[in-house]
Amino acid sequence: MSKPYADREVWFLTGSQGLYGEDTLRQVAEQSQEIARALDASGDVPVKIVWKPVLTDSGAIRRAALDANADDAVIGVIAWMHTFSPAKMWIAGLDALRTPLLHLHTQANVELPWSTIDMDFMNLNQAAHGDREFGYIQTRLGVARKTVVGHVSNPAVTASIGTWVRAGAAWSATHELKLARFGDNMRNVAVTEGDKTEAELRFGVSVNTWGVNDLVAAVDAVADADIDTLVAEYEDLYDVAAELRHGGERHDSLRYGARQELALLAVLGEIGATAFTTNFEDLGALRQLPGLAVQRLMSQGFGFGAEGDWKTAVLVRAAKVMGVGLPGGASLMEDYTYNLVPGAEKILGAHMLEVCPSLTATKPSLEIHPLGIGGKEDPVRLVFDTDSGSGVVVSLTDMRDRFRLTANVVDVVPPDQALPKLPVARAVWKPQPDFATSAEAWLTAGGAHHTVLTTAVGVEAFEDFAEIAKTELLVIDKDTTRRSFRQEVRWNAAYYRLAQSL
Ligand code: MN
Repeated sequence: MSKPYADREVWFLTGSQGLYGEDTLRQVAEQSQEIARALDASGDVPVKIVWKPVLTDSGAIRRAALDANADDAVIGVIAWMHTFSPAKMWIAGLDALRTPLLHLHTQANVELPWSTIDMDFMNLNQAAHGDREFGYIQTRLGVARKTVVGHVSNPAVTASIGTWVRAGAAWSATHELKLARFGDNMRNVAVTEGDKTEAELRFGVSVNTWGVNDLVAAVDAVADADIDTLVAEYEDLYDVAAELRHGGERHDSLRYGARQELALLAVLGEIGATAFTTNFEDLGALRQLPGLAVQRLMSQGFGFGAEGDWKTAVLVRAAKVMGVGLPGGASLMEDYTYNLVPGAEKILGAHMLEVCPSLTATKPSLEIHPLGIGGKEDPVRLVFDTDSGSGVVVSLTDMRDRFRLTANVVDVVPPDQALPKLPVARAVWKPQPDFATSAEAWLTAGGAHHTVLTTAVGVEAFEDFAEIAKTELLVIDKDTTRRSFRQEVRWNAAYYRLAQSL
């Protein structure tokens, strides 16, 4: 079975030293290959694991790090000190390494062979202290990494490695990400602004603006036959409102929606962009705010932010890549309005139009309704309820001297009642640990009103991503208390100023 990240790989590096002699090093090589094979065979690990020959000196370690850096297919490096690998040998390599690192603290055997253990066994199986030597040098050098502890037969171990692989794939994706903005930010909005130059250094993302008229020209250029084909696909995939169907009085509006989707695909394809933004204040000659088109592109894996919000578009793209091959989805989301009934508090999230249908396994309905703002024609859109289950909402804000990720673990729930008058796709959730603590913490963190909601991966994927990106992440979950969260925000302000070099 092919892996979700079929064109990528993670290298498995094993540390040892020459002191042990050929016989021991041969066993180290065999056992480390077995561990690499077990990881590769695990359904939890979504990428090919490539074993590399055992490293026993500084030059080879540095060369392995440089080779990993140079190979675009390599999205991460796993290191394990099977035996004692004196860690001064690792300084040059760790200093050079730019690829995400996972320190796997494991050993070949599960059970300690109590009745037969002798010094030969002890000398071969000494990761318990070999990895401590490695942990020391990583910490001394300030190396960002994930540490995973346990035998590879333990599903918790492979699951945790698999999550880190997904974060590494997202890291790789943000470095390949060209983000096209059609128009600027919504006027006077603060949180959607940010330092695009710093974002390119920090996350690798290249954010640039295109005139909305480029899109208008592409809309005009779409062939009628292509629209016919796409509209037929809509009628197959969705419950299309009668007025929008072939022969319906507003069918032309649906055709215009299809025209926008095809034009966006063409323009983004030409740019090589995998994420984009729009702004309802700057639509030029577009007849509708793109709703259906944006929803469809998100479901194909594009990142998206509304009102020029390129930072959330980056997050949506990252979450799309993290979730490849998993059930659930990811979308732009906005905290919209609340149910404040004591004991039944919930957040209703939605947007003007642009919520990704990957959030449901049910059949969305395709409808047309007026839009209160923007002064354009009524836009077509998909309407649905997000499937229940666990999720996480994440925002990215610019705190002047750094970026901050804020994440809230949530439980997506069914609406208390049907929402027959609400003409947009939506999600209803209960935030952890409870509504008041969550909202207070989010406001204290300065988290944005735009987020990515993902139901495909959990908060651990964003923790791993933040570690790789050396970016602050504030997590609001079942363990959050008001007091500790306020302190964390204060301490982080000091820490991240100190931690960044001049
Ligand atoms: Mn918005």
